[in-house]
Amino acid sequence: MMDVKMYKKDMLALLEKLVNVDSGSNYKEGVDKVGNLLAEKFNELGFSVERIKQETFGDHLRIRCGQGTKSTILIVAHMDTVFKEGTAKKRPFSIVGERAYGPGVIDMKASLVSVLYAFTALKKAGSEQYRNVEILITSDEEIGSPTSKALIEQAAKGKRYALVMEPARKDGSLVTERRGNGRFTLVVKGQAAHSGIEPEKGRSAIEELAYKIVKLHRLNDLDQGISINVGKIEGGDAVNTISPRAVGYIDVRVSTSEQAVAVEQKIEEVCATSDVKGTKIELHGHMKRPPMKKDQQIEELLQIVQEVGREMGLDLKDTATGGGSDASFTAAMGVATIDGLGPIGGNAHSEKEYLEIPSLTERTLLLAKIIERLGDEK
Ligand SMILES: [Zn+2]
Repeated sequence: MMDVKMYKKDMLALLEKLVNVDSGSNYKEGVDKVGNLLAEKFNELGFSVERIKQETFGDHLRIRCGQGTKSTILIVAHMDTVFKEGTAKKRPFSIVGERAYGPGVIDMKASLVSVLYAFTALKKAGSEQYRNVEILITSDEEIGSPTSKALIEQAAKGKRYALVMEPARKDGSLVTERRGNGRFTLVVKGQAAHSGIEPEKGRSAIEELAYKIVKLHRLNDLDQGISINVGKIEGGDAVNTISPRAVGYIDVRVSTSEQAVAVEQKIEEVCATSDVKGTKIELHGHMKRPPMKKDQQIEELLQIVQEVGREMGLDLKDTATGGGSDASFTAAMGVATIDGLGPIGGNAHSEKEYLEIPSLTERTLLLAKIIERLGDEK
């Protein structure tokens, strides 16, 4: 019999440790600290940990569970969070009732603990199927996986299944569909001038950006699953200076690959000409993650996972989400992928982020049992 509950105290202790290390995507030192902690733990289990060095971001970890065997299962998780250095100090790991709080607690430090203890439980139970798994723990998921994308694709090659450890939804649902996403940055250059003395010499970058924001937001088509949001802007020097520079940051979500191509083209069209004479526009960025569609093989994998869940008394539902994850990469590689296999929680990317503590051991046992089942297939 496989048991996870016996590790509950250890799991929460490790989770506290991990949450209290800031690991924002751009804070290499912190992400590497998390990586070191994990590498140490996986080494203790007898797994080999390969560190894929990065200069700007944290190092990625590629963990192999068996020796010389060709694994058919890939587990994908990430160490980075969206929170800046200093956040953990301001609001460290805490427990109130049945919930745990802290930066990255559900997205996805609880998942990291879950992966480690799923293997701990499998080994303890004398199960051999874990040898069939390779684990990839990356450092830059929250910023679109610029340095891990190729690594994920490489690791996914030849795999039959990908288990992605983003948190389960608030109601415990797994994720079988995701919208694709892209990020663009629009830089507008104008001409500075004193707005009282010689306004005629100025070319307002802010005014130009305002036109572009309105046009970009008109590309929204929520019914079709297309959303475009200029979520952050910068610009201007002083209130009495015609602004020489303005920047808009654009987030794009699409439901199909065709939409991805079409929307990118429309954004380029909008940004091809200036509305305010004399301003210049530079558009940077591109679509980052393809949409993940629930196809036949995802459906089949879901059924296996649901069956494993039923044996544990869990009624596992699945759902679609607009958020992006690395599941899109493995699914696009043709690997049967299920996402949302982490513990249950909510409010990710906010101060109210939480983990449902009982789900930590429950979903870890589920993961262990899924590995057991899938690892049996030859
Ligand atoms: Zn995440």
